[in-house]
Amino acid sequence: MTLCWKCNAEVDAVTSPRCAACKALQPLPLGVGHFAVLGLPQSFAVTTEALETAFRARSSQVHPDRFARAEAKRATRPKPCSFPPGM
Ligand SMILES: [Zn+2]
Repeated sequence: MTLCWKCNAEVDAVTSPRCAACKALQPLPLGVGHFAVLGLPQSFAVTTEALETAFRARSSQVHPDRFARAEAKRATRPKPCSFPPGM
């Protein structure tokens, strides 16, 4: 769990790319693997169909078209080493 860069609510950016409270897109924590992001088991036995389904589901949540009208701060990703305001 991390804190939302916009409203400081607790978020799990690995399982959900958007904050549940304010809907802001969250940066992924460093070191998170592709399998975790897609919600797939880390295995060679992942089928192409499961991979495509997981990829399409995740990409639909973070596609740039969903944020075309977002304010400038919301549309850009915070720097990985930056601290939230007030720290
Ligand atoms: Zn938030």
